[in-house]
Amino acid sequence: MDTILVINAGSSSVKFQVYSVEGEGTLRRQIKGQMDGIGSRPRLRASGATGDPLADRAYPIEAVPDVPAAMAVAGAWLRDELRVTPIAVGHRVVHGGPDYSRPVLIDHGIVSRLERFVALAPLHQPYNLAPIRSLLANFPALPQVACFDTAFHRTHDAVADHYAIPQQLHAEGVRRYGFHGLSYEYIARTLPSVAPDIARRRVIVAHLGSGASMCALKEGRSVESTMGFTALDGLPMGTRPGQIDPGVVLYLISEKGMPAAKVQDFLYRDCGLKGLSGVSNDMRELEASADPHARFAIDYFVYRIGLSAGMLAAALQGLDAFVFTAGIGENSASIRARVAEQLGWLGVALDATENARHSRLISRPGSPIPVYVVPTDEELMIAQHTLSLLIDGHSHNTRSERVS
Ligand code: AMP
Repeated sequence: MDTILVINAGSSSVKFQVYSVEGEGTLRRQIKGQMDGIGSRPRLRASGATGDPLADRAYPIEAVPDVPAAMAVAGAWLRDELRVTPIAVGHRVVHGGPDYSRPVLIDHGIVSRLERFVALAPLHQPYNLAPIRSLLANFPALPQVACFDTAFHRTHDAVADHYAIPQQLHAEGVRRYGFHGLSYEYIARTLPSVAPDIARRRVIVAHLGSGASMCALKEGRSVESTMGFTALDGLPMGTRPGQIDPGVVLYLISEKGMPAAKVQDFLYRDCGLKGLSGVSNDMRELEASADPHARFAIDYFVYRIGLSAGMLAAALQGLDAFVFTAGIGENSASIRARVAEQLGWLGVALDATENARHSRLISRPGSPIPVYVVPTDEELMIAQHTLSLLIDGHSHNTRSERVS
């Protein structure tokens, strides 16, 4: 059986999925797993196509000190115990810089170019590249594909791609890149079958997970995003603040004496829902909490989604549909209801029963703006791109089945 391995490597975990390639290029998810606690309490967990447990093992810290070691352990498990020998590997790579507007087949030259973007995504890019490098060294003939979170947004007009700073800095790469592109691309490709009436029209997609952003889609293409140069901008997130006056950063440096590394840590790890609530970065815990700060953090989250919707509707010059996706968007009926309330001025009218059921269409029949819940699947998007590149050297749509 031909299989494709998808890898999403972070600083403390490596997530992986294995897809079988079936007739006519159909992809079917067979294995889903992750090695987490890298360098602290390593643990390999994996399940099969129907959620059946395949592995749950702890490892000594010396056995899995870093991402390449995690890759090696998980790879050996797949190869030796499950007899998985993929025909190609697709990687999530957070930053493709200004150059890449589509996935790319990896070679040593590409890795060197992608290393230049480490400074633009210091907490993600090095970990994304680590397994690529170790697979290149150990399996040089194995095709690898890099799929970028920034690529889908490279259709933005220049005004959406710029900051008001000297052009020289823009040329150096200081731009509004936008992120979560694989998620938005998946939604854009799914909409024609889910909601053909609105798929080519003006749609706002809200990717609300532990990272959160929103994207304006016109004719299935991204025209604007709430995220910019880094994945810090836009909506408040689990631990990131979202939009913040750069003057606050200057204040932290000049008045609080915080060095750059500390500011970076603060902005990526201590702000957002966690910082505001002082309770948790996890929406489920905030929703279950009676702490007034937890409630305020939720109020702030919902308020900023409403503000951003106004901005994106202006970019689209109107709005024809709104889509929720990712952990919070797919699972929290109460957040969806509160966001819909914020969008009431646009005419959004939610159907409480359908919303509570997590139905695909959750607005009332008369709502001038239909509201949908569409589960995202970034890994499947990566597997599709990888297969396309393998088949004919460029990326296009393939048929797929979502099995989770
Ligand atoms: P993601 O990053 O897409 O996996 O989303 C993670 C976020 O989704 C976390 O904040 C979770 O608390 C949140 N989430 C997942 N399930 C639920 C749920 N049933 N209700 C509220 N939030 C949820």
